Amino acid sequence: MRGEQFVKSLNDGRKIWLDGALVSNLPKHQAFKGTLETLQRLFNMLDVPGVRETIGFVPPGGSKFAHASFLVPYTPQDLLKRRTSFDCWARETNGMMSRISDYGRSMITGWYAARKQLGLLDPHFESKITNYYKEARDRDLFLTTAILDPQIDRSNGLDDSRINERFLHIIKETSDGIVVRGAKMIATGAPYTHDFIIFSFLNFEAKDSKHAHILLVPAHSDGLHIICRESFASQRPQDHILSSRYEEMDAVLFFDDVFIPWERVLLYGNPDNVLKLRGNKTANSLAFHQTVVRFVSKLEFVTGVAFAIAESIGVQGFLHIQEKLGELITQIDVMKALVIASETMARPDESGVLVPEISFIDTARNIGTKYYPRAIEILQQVGGGGFVQVPSSMEDFYGPISNLMHLYFEGTSVSAEKKVQLFKLAWDLIGSPLGSRHELYERFYAGDPVRAYASQYVKFEKELLVDPVWKLLKESSKEGG
Ligand SMILES: Cc1cc2nc3c(=O)[nH]c(=O)nc-3n(C[C@H](O)[C@H](O)[C@H](O)COP(=O)(O)OP(=O)(O)OC[C@H]3O[C@@H](n4cnc5c(N)ncnc54)[C@H](O)[C@@H]3O)c2cc1C
Repeated sequence: MRGEQFVKSLNDGRKIWLDGALVSNLPKHQAFKGTLETLQRLFNMLDVPGVRETIGFVPPGGSKFAHASFLVPYTPQDLLKRRTSFDCWARETNGMMSRISDYGRSMITGWYAARKQLGLLDPHFESKITNYYKEARDRDLFLTTAILDPQIDRSNGLDDSRINERFLHIIKETSDGIVVRGAKMIATGAPYTHDFIIFSFLNFEAKDSKHAHILLVPAHSDGLHIICRESFASQRPQDHILSSRYEEMDAVLFFDDVFIPWERVLLYGNPDNVLKLRGNKTANSLAFHQTVVRFVSKLEFVTGVAFAIAESIGVQGFLHIQEKLGELITQIDVMKALVIASETMARPDESGVLVPEISFIDTARNIGTKYYPRAIEILQQVGGGGFVQVPSSMEDFYGPISNLMHLYFEGTSVSAEKKVQLFKLAWDLIGSPLGSRHELYERFYAGDPVRAYASQYVKFEKELLVDPVWKLLKESSKEGG
């Protein structure tokens, strides 16, 4: 099945650095094993009759199911199919895995869908993206993005030589391709990816053209180093349910003179064109749509845990607890409504591709940066000290103090064992290294939230709201009479 093929394909000589050493056998390594089992299960779903129809589609002229993130939507049914597919994988992982390739795949699908307009940026773009889209779709490529530049000195630009040298740039051009040097941060899911979608983040001036690029870089490229943060994977699934199966890993990428063949160089050397491709509405709407669908699942999961915690210790009847649990429900409803609004208000682009309305998606992504930390805060308020009143290991239930464990950990309506399991699960959301990483992720994954909110204001057609104010004032003033 394709899950097994996927896992095998990752032993391709990629250079993954963890704890000061190169990872020699990724699928067997303790830090990656649990997550790979999860990913294998997700990939295998595309081979299961009755399930593959929900998450996949058969491309025109093909015979094998492809993931629906590769479906170019022309009708509301197509958009619904994409949502159902995202939702299915998100539910399978409780919304806790964000970069399981459907985001990166959607971006490629968007560029492919808009290839005619985008072809105006470069004469080779259309054929390159068409070939790559088909390859990624038919070979089930796992894709992730790395966009940001290293945090050296955010107050300075490329005129600072330290920054100029370290931000990813082209050092050589040959008849076969280009050679790039520099670093990128952050690539979530980096150890599991086949290709990185790499693009420059800042709006560069023409003089900085060597820094402008949009590239598709194989993870096993010579000279590419994947530097992992500390692993949060746990080998004790009974104590750390989430950390043992959903550790996506985040990494920094070092490009120590990496050769990239022309067919994988989508654009380079023209900052304006790179900016246009990066800002392409079709690709962004399709990709960001996935992020919000996934987020709904995560909010539902956190809310489910909060409800269960409240009931397990008998606090669900208190007014302030009900108010907080009600707030979690409003979060879910607002997010769901924004997804539905983005689909209902979808409009065809110049090529007839049905594009979810991005303003609703932007709003959802922005509010999400505040909703998730608040949801975690509510979970803490509901459970109180219960999160740290659990034993270090579930093994205590099977040892010499078993009878005392069952006696003192009993809950309102659940057994002691179930209650401890539940609080351990909740701790993996609110207190474990994985849980803290998730809070950081939801604050920042969609970019700097401060600038993202500000950009909603800057882009907004302000006359729509301001004109009626002037009209009213004019009507009510003597001068306007
Ligand atoms: C867990 C996690 C996973 C991620 N995964 C991915 C991924 O898979 N792919 C990917 O491409 N990216 C990923 N990101 C990166 C994410 O896109 C960035 O973290 C985000 O865009 C913010 O950029 P930064 O981290 O460089 O923060 P900075 O830009 O360095 O900001 C730090 C602080 O300084 C402020 N600041 C900095 N510059 C300015 C300015 N010019 N004006 C005003 N305020 C400023 C910011 O508001 C912020 O408070 C991930 C991030 C996290 C935390």
